[in-house]
Amino acid sequence: MKIKLSKKLLITFLLLSFAVIFTTGLMSNLIVDREFNKYLQENNKNNINKLVGIITNSYNKLDTNEIQSIAASEKFYVEIEDISGKTVYTTGKQYLQNKRYNMNMMKGRMPGNSFNSGDYIEESYHIESNGTKVGKIIVGYFGIYNFSEKDVIFKKALYKSFMISMGIAIIIAVIISIVISKQLTKPLSIINKKSLEIRKGNFKEREDIKTSTLEIKELSDSINYLAESLDKQDALRKRLTSDMAHEIRTPLTILQNSMEAMMDGVISMDRDKIESCYEEVIRINKLVDNLKNIASLEESSLNLNKTNFDIKEELERICQDFQPYFRKKNINFINEIKESRQVLLDKDKFRQIINNLLSNAYRYSNQNGEVQLLEDINDNNIIIKVTDNGIGLSEEELPLIFERFYRSDKSRDRETGGAGIGLTITKALVEAHGGKIEAESRLNQGSCFTVILPLE
Ligand code: ADP
Repeated sequence: MKIKLSKKLLITFLLLSFAVIFTTGLMSNLIVDREFNKYLQENNKNNINKLVGIITNSYNKLDTNEIQSIAASEKFYVEIEDISGKTVYTTGKQYLQNKRYNMNMMKGRMPGNSFNSGDYIEESYHIESNGTKVGKIIVGYFGIYNFSEKDVIFKKALYKSFMISMGIAIIIAVIISIVISKQLTKPLSIINKKSLEIRKGNFKEREDIKTSTLEIKELSDSINYLAESLDKQDALRKRLTSDMAHEIRTPLTILQNSMEAMMDGVISMDRDKIESCYEEVIRINKLVDNLKNIASLEESSLNLNKTNFDIKEELERICQDFQPYFRKKNINFINEIKESRQVLLDKDKFRQIINNLLSNAYRYSNQNGEVQLLEDINDNNIIIKVTDNGIGLSEEELPLIFERFYRSDKSRDRETGGAGIGLTITKALVEAHGGKIEAESRLNQGSCFTVILPLE
């Protein structure tokens, strides 16, 4: 059976608080009650001692008024006998009877037996004069604590206040439990709703959850991040489909039109026309190749074949291959290859990385622009920077350039022949070597790509 988290939390909080309230309430009640009884018992003993003292001191000339008043206030039965056992004075048992009567009346309204007046107790004390026994005092009372009515009223008030405070504590505990369980579960149910929306394909909504619980905040951020990534992926996927359709349709339409024109005899079927059709077929083929490349990246079939080679030599060779292209566009190509060092990398893949970056720098540079290749090696890494002052990228476009088939609007306007997968492949190759690639760019000002490859 599945129980809602809010219910589970509520039940747990309530059980915990009830257990704490009952135990502390009962314990404090018991402790206070015990201490109060102790005090009463001592008080009773003191009163008896006081009475015995008075009687002993005035045995020859008894002050019966004082004895009477103590017996009346403490509800004692007092009897004094002489040496022969003859009663010389008694208070009579009227105080005891009154007390029993009153106590029985009150007991009916008290809980448990804590207010029981107890059994009748009689204690006797010798009266001595000059070291010889001259008589006996008998003191009688109810119960070892000899509760007075005031004591009972005090105990009753104490018990009542414990009950009331326990009741208030329970009400507060219930309110706090409801509030806390709601507070904890509300953001979770919002997150849950949000994930259901994502499941339905609605990635647009973002939820800014106000919570002081770190884990819930992190979960909410992760869900928002997930929605954002899925949103971007969704947009990219849609863009990719239309891009691919466009990329394939253009050469196909050219082919179809040229062939129709040739069949209709509108244009002659000479070598030039056939060559131009052939170029379109090659373009389609290239596109299919690119798709294959991407598929192999996804299968993570990036097996590295590492060999030792001199990085400076290899970079200079690549730069030489690019020189004619840069010259064609009158681009000032600055090469700052500083250090000659034997490195252990997959040479072909390294070449592909640099080729892709230089080819982008060339394609996205303007006529008479400037491209720079910089190499630097520190204790741990090889750092290669390819910088250009070409068309650049906007802030929104920059994070997307490593995505498959992504092409910025500006690059789309240009006839660069790109399909938006060069950087995806470059990034995969760099990461396969345990390195990373970073890009900085400003629209219309240029871009800088930094590749960091570990030496080990
Ligand atoms: P493409 O084959 O389209 O160049 P890439 O994956 O190499 O594909 O690049 C993806 C996109 O990144 C390009 O279409 C372009 O918009 C942008 N880009 C890459 N390099 C540069 C650069 N040096 N300057 C400006 N934009 C660039």
